[in-house]
Amino acid sequence: MAPGPSEPPSRPARALFVDRDGTLNPDLHYLREAERVELYRGVGDALSLAHDHGYQVVCVTNQSGIERGFYTAADVDAIHARLNELLRPYRAHIDAFYYCPHAPETGCDCRKPGTALFERAAHDHRLEFATSAIVGDRTLDVEAGKKLGLLTALVVPPGHEESVQAEVARAGVRPSIEASRFSLAVLRVLARG
Ligand SMILES: [Mg+2]
Ligand SMILES: [Zn+2]
Repeated sequence: MAPGPSEPPSRPARALFVDRDGTLNPDLHYLREAERVELYRGVGDALSLAHDHGYQVVCVTNQSGIERGFYTAADVDAIHARLNELLRPYRAHIDAFYYCPHAPETGCDCRKPGTALFERAAHDHRLEFATSAIVGDRTLDVEAGKKLGLLTALVVPPGHEESVQAEVARAGVRPSIEASRFSLAVLRVLARG
C-alpha cells in the first residue's frame, strides 16, 4: 500500500560520525566524573551547523575503562547526558551515542577501528554510509571510516603534527581531510556537500 500523505517515504539519512575524547572534549584519560567534561571551543556551533545541513550526529567511542573497571556504563551514560547539556546553549545535540566497553585484548568487533557500532547505528537510524563522514583525532577513527566508505577527517591540533603524521604513516591510512580543530574539520566536511 502506498504511504499516506502523513507518512512520506523516508530516505536514508547521512550521518556525521564523531569520536568523543580528544575530538569533542579534551581527553582526560579514563574520565569518570561527568562534571569534569568540557567541550572544545567551536564544537557546539559546528554540530549545530551540521544539523542545519541535514546530518544526524552520531558519537562512536571506545570506552575500555568499563571493562577495565575504571568506571561503569552508568558513568559513561552520565558523561553523554552532560555533553548534550553542554551543547544545548548552542542549539546543538548528539543524536545518538554508541560505545565499546571492551579492552583491546578482548578482541571484540565493536572497538574502533572495528565497524560494528557504525553498522548498528546505521541500522537503528537508517543511515547511509556513502554520504556520511567521520571526524576523529586518531588513525583508528580514520581506519574505521575507510572500511565503511565514509569521508574521513582527522583533527590534528597545532603542535601535534609530527606525532600524528607518524601515526598516519604507521597505520597506512590517510584521511581525506586534516584540520587543526574539530570545527574546521566539520566546515570542510560540509563544504564537500
Ligand atoms: Mg579520540
Ligand atoms: Zn567492543
